[in-house]
Amino acid sequence: MPRTAHTCESDRLPPDADMDQLREGAQRCRDCPIGKNATQAVFGEGPTTARLMLVGEQPGDREDLAGHPFVGPAGHLLDEAMQALDWPRDSLYLTNAVKHFKFELRGKRRLHKSPAQQEIDACLQWLDRELELVRPKAIVALGATAARALMGRPVGVMRERGNWIVRDDGLRVLVTLHPSALLRGPPRERAAAFEKWLEDLRHASRYVRP
Ligand code: SF4
Repeated sequence: MPRTAHTCESDRLPPDADMDQLREGAQRCRDCPIGKNATQAVFGEGPTTARLMLVGEQPGDREDLAGHPFVGPAGHLLDEAMQALDWPRDSLYLTNAVKHFKFELRGKRRLHKSPAQQEIDACLQWLDRELELVRPKAIVALGATAARALMGRPVGVMRERGNWIVRDDGLRVLVTLHPSALLRGPPRERAAAFEKWLEDLRHASRYVRP
């Protein structure tokens, strides 16, 4: 997986650092320009025994303020899906490929801005450490940024959605849309889009079932 050449913030931590140490390290991190503008780093949450890890793109405006992943509108849609799939939120590890919120100011509003490839690469240090600690049985990549970060190459989400891709380390990654993509779609098509999204996610249910 691509990495920046200089010493990363996570390299200052012991190799056996626990999740709290990683979380604090990410708060200090300024390995890419995003960190200095955000309110705080939003690290992953969930049990380190989780069988399934869900990876999104980056925290949004609400997550940036709250300090928790998936608590904004996209997170609420994900909650609906988790309920429909009988995935208790506290049984999953939820995180993002990029830990700080990237935005542009439009008046007083902070509008989401996609992270650049270099920023995704710089932040991979934290996702890699989360993967080492959680060692999930499988991962769901929510959207192109997560899929690219996890696979180390561009992934066509619309082409690959609902499919498993296997990483070099043997970890299986199920690719699907980010919930914000569903929210951006036409409202009259949202119910059908949600059902199709659930179909994608059900593959993960079947695979990680104990
Ligand atoms: S977005 Fe990631 S790499 Fe960039 S400063 Fe934040 S934690 Fe560090």
